[in-house]
Amino acid sequence: MSSLRVLVGCKRVIDYAVKIRVNASKTAVETAGVKHSMNPFDEIAVEEAVRLKEKMGKKISEIVVVSCGTAKAQETLRTALAMGADRGIHVQVEDDAKLQPLGVAKLLKAIVEKEKIDLVVLGKQAIDDDSNQTGQMLAGLLNWPQATFASKVDIAEDNAITVSREVDGGIETISSKIPAIVTTDLRLNEPRYASLPNIMKAKKKPLVKLTPQELGVDVAPRLETLEVSEPPKRSGGKKVESVDELVDKLKNEAAIL
Ligand code: AMP
Repeated sequence: MSSLRVLVGCKRVIDYAVKIRVNASKTAVETAGVKHSMNPFDEIAVEEAVRLKEKMGKKISEIVVVSCGTAKAQETLRTALAMGADRGIHVQVEDDAKLQPLGVAKLLKAIVEKEKIDLVVLGKQAIDDDSNQTGQMLAGLLNWPQATFASKVDIAEDNAITVSREVDGGIETISSKIPAIVTTDLRLNEPRYASLPNIMKAKKKPLVKLTPQELGVDVAPRLETLEVSEPPKRSGGKKVESVDELVDKLKNEAAIL
């Protein structure tokens, strides 16, 4: 029985509770002075890796967490280490906004190969760009099987991995062999809060910094953002007196029926 090395991606994103504003030049959303946190689906990914290690003991030899971004990404990695990951890798880039899913997937591929990773756990999507691409692209680049949108993960002694996925109308259960890529959905687990002692311990866990150049990866953006705009303001609703009036308005004013 060989033990498994797990890699988890942790992106630093604008906190889910912040009201997003578009910047004045309409090129991106405003990030300056805005609260950031670990992408919620990545918290679920870290939690799942830690639970697998707690459940399977020595079968999981190490959980490595990686964040690609500016120096602040290290805060996100420290949170993941406080949740129970063993080691962090920060891939430093100058501008988060210029890093796109293909670039991240190439960086992750280089780390998978360098670190001899067996299982990659990513979030199903980053809540800032909503791309939902990185896991799938990484699976393509590595030619590994992928189980996306996982709501349950089981690994057997013989490295068979079984994943339940929430699909329209029910749950699909698929099985594959490790090495593999899993992306997490909301209902997979409820991530733990890092306790104060664990936050203190996490400060001493190893964290290395690498650059895309050191990994031999070109992260130049392939897509150009033309414009970012706010959704149209909602106009106020109207009260109707009867179902007939409602149907009339839907037909003649809203032209929905
Ligand atoms: P996306 O394809 O951008 O929606 O992101 C999907 C998942 O890929 C995220 O939930 C993360 O697990 C991982 N990921 C994306 N960007 C990064 C990043 N800059 N650093 C680390 N992991 C990332």
